[in-house]
Amino acid sequence: MIKKEQIYEGKGKKLFATDDEWTLIAEFKDDLTAFNAQKKAQEKGKGALNAAISAKLFALIKQNGVETHLIKRLDETNHLIKKTRIIPIEVVARNIATGSLSKRLGIKEGTELDFTLVEFYYKNDDLGDPIINDEHVVLMKLASEDELKTLKTLARKINDILRPFFRSVNLNLVDFKVEFGRDQNGQILLADEISPDSCRFWDLTSGEKLDKDRFRQDLGGVKLAYEEVLKRIEGALK
Ligand code: UDP
Repeated sequence: MIKKEQIYEGKGKKLFATDDEWTLIAEFKDDLTAFNAQKKAQEKGKGALNAAISAKLFALIKQNGVETHLIKRLDETNHLIKKTRIIPIEVVARNIATGSLSKRLGIKEGTELDFTLVEFYYKNDDLGDPIINDEHVVLMKLASEDELKTLKTLARKINDILRPFFRSVNLNLVDFKVEFGRDQNGQILLADEISPDSCRFWDLTSGEKLDKDRFRQDLGGVKLAYEEVLKRIEGALK
């Protein structure tokens, strides 16, 4: 597969065309951004770590019955992916209250939620990715009612796959964000990435944060944390 011209650059990845119309290459960047890109940094090797972590998790998710855009990891930082039209919704699943949920609703940080909460955010940097509900999604034609149901079902299914998996490597999957796209047949596929940039992982024993909160909160050791997450995943999926 030939890597052709760049067609898009996001905060964490660049997308390139290939010689096949329906296949793209996603290149993971070393850039770290937070708070709607108001805070920025670079961490050499972060892109490769996320590319490795995301490839492993997408493979695990696929084995458990959820279709994804990933065809294969090509090298350290490049994924060969199916082209999709991204649904402009960030689907967040939460097991433990923290972050914007605690801030917005005053639910105490660290509270175990009675059930996995699924939330939607409108993917729009100019508006700061505002939270939206089911009716906004349909009103704004971001997704149909059927697709909306599918997004919720898939987010819960992904959580049901990942939460016990991470528990088995002594990590608490606190919350995560996923994005979905429609392929050439309109089928909904898991897209984007699942990595410490898009999840919260707390060590089950020490409570230590092993995700992008280390960058958001200036805790240091960002790369070490991502390396630790990859090491645990690789240890379990050998
Ligand atoms: N998240 C993300 N991208 C975003 C916003 C959130 O990947 O633009 C992830 C974040 O890493 C966390 C979950 O979604 O795992 C919930 O984030 P929250 O709404 O608490 O946002 P924050 O506190 O980061 O503003």
